[in-house]
Amino acid sequence: MVIVQKYGGTSVGNAARIRRVCRRIAETVAAGHRVVAVVSAMGDTTDRLIELARRVSEAPPPRELDMLVANGETITAPLVAMCLQDRGVPAISLTGAQAGVRTSGHHSRARIKEIRPIRILNALGRGQVPVVAGFQGATEDFEITTLGRGGSDTTAVALAAALEADLCEIYTDVDGIMTADPRVVPEARLLSHISYEEILELAAVGARVMHPRAVEIGELYGVPIHVRSSFHRRPGTMVVSEVPMEDRKRVRGVAHDLSVAKVTVLGVPDRPGVAAAIFEPLSEAGISVDVIVQNVSSEGRTDLTFTVAEADLGRSLPLVEAAAAEIGAAGTSQAAGLAKVSLVGTGMLGTPGIAARMFRTLAEAGINIEMISTSEIRITCIVDRRRAEEAVRALHAAFELEQVPAGTPV
Ligand code: ADP
Ligand code: ASP
Ligand code: MG
Repeated sequence: MVIVQKYGGTSVGNAARIRRVCRRIAETVAAGHRVVAVVSAMGDTTDRLIELARRVSEAPPPRELDMLVANGETITAPLVAMCLQDRGVPAISLTGAQAGVRTSGHHSRARIKEIRPIRILNALGRGQVPVVAGFQGATEDFEITTLGRGGSDTTAVALAAALEADLCEIYTDVDGIMTADPRVVPEARLLSHISYEEILELAAVGARVMHPRAVEIGELYGVPIHVRSSFHRRPGTMVVSEVPMEDRKRVRGVAHDLSVAKVTVLGVPDRPGVAAAIFEPLSEAGISVDVIVQNVSSEGRTDLTFTVAEADLGRSLPLVEAAAAEIGAAGTSQAAGLAKVSLVGTGMLGTPGIAARMFRTLAEAGINIEMISTSEIRITCIVDRRRAEEAVRALHAAFELEQVPAGTPV
C-alpha cells in the first residue's frame, strides 16, 4: 500500500518525539508499505515565528511572513529524514516546492492548484521515504506560500489524492476526532467514524483537529483518512462517506471558536445592492464573513450585523466604514471578545427540537445568545467568549454526547 502519514506539531515537538515518529515510519516501511511522510513545524514554532515578526514589524508584509513561517516545516523535514537514515531507512526531505505543491499566490491562505509529484515518485521508486514539509507550497514563479494555520493536513490529503494513496493517516496529539475538544470537555468521546460532511462542518466552525480544506479535498477525491494519536497504537477515527448505523446519533459533536468579533452597519438603506457593497470589498481582501444577521427593516432602513475572525477585525473596519459611507448608512459599530459554539450532525436534518433544546440549555446556564445561524446539519450560537467553554460543556451534557449510542459494539 501507499500510505501518506502526517505528523502534527506536538508529535514532532522535540528530538525524542521525532525519534518516536521515525520508529513508526520505519515499522510501516518494514510491514511492506511505501510511506510518504508530511511533517508540521515543531511544537509552537509557527506561533513563535509570527510573534517574532510582530516584534520587528507593525504589520508584517504577507510575502515576507510566508517566507518566514514556512521555515518551521522546513526544519522538521530534514530532521526526520536524517533520523530515518540513521535507522537504516532510506529517506529524503523535500520542501513543498520541491515536492511539487503548486499554489495560488494568496499569501498565508494559498490554495493548492495542483501537485506535480515527480520528485516524490522518483524517491519512492528508489525505495526512499519522501519527507515533505507540510503547510507550504510555491507559485509558478517560485514565490513561497503557506496554506493557512493547520494547513499541513491539507498538504497530506492533497498528496494522498495526487498519489492515489491507499490511506492518509493524520497523526495528532489526541485519540482522534472526538465529540468535543477534549481539552474543554474531559468526558468527550472518541468517534470511531465520522462523515466528510460532518467533520468539514465541525472544522469550519472551530474544531481544529483537521484543516477544513483537507476534508474538502479528501471528500472530492475519496481519500480514506484515519485521524489518530501518535502517542499510542489504538485506532482513531475513520473519515468516511457514510457513518455505520450503530454510530448514529443526531448530534455528533460540539465545536467552538474563541476568536470571533462582530461588526454592525447601522441604518443601512433598504435597497438592492447594499449587501454586495459591504461584502465585496471584504471578500476581495480575503476576509471571510461568517454569521450574518439582517434585521427586518423599518422606515426603509435596517441594521446588518456579521462576524469575522477576531484577527481580521482590524483589516475589516476601514473597508466596512468606507462601504457604509458610500451607501449612506448611519454608521458602524464593532465588538470583539465573542465566541462561536456549534452543534453538528447529519442526523439533525429534519429533526425538530434540537435548536430549541440548544437554546434552553444555554438559557438554563444563564448564557446569552447574541446571534444564531444554521445550516442543514449545524446550529451555531454567538456568545460571550468568557462563557463559551461552559456553554460547550453544558451542551455536551445536555445532548448526552459522552454516552455510547445504543447498539454500538464495545
Ligand atoms: P496537530 O498539531 O497534530 O495538527 P492540532 O492542534 O492542529 O494538532 O489539532 C489537534 C487539537 O485539536 C487537539 O489537541 C484538540 O485540542 C483540538 N480539538 C478541537 N476539537 C476537537 C475534536 N472534536 N476532537 C479532537 N480534537 C479536537
Ligand atoms: N505549522 C502550521 C501551523 O501551526 C501548520 C500545521 O501545523 O498544520 O499552523
Ligand atoms: Mg493541525
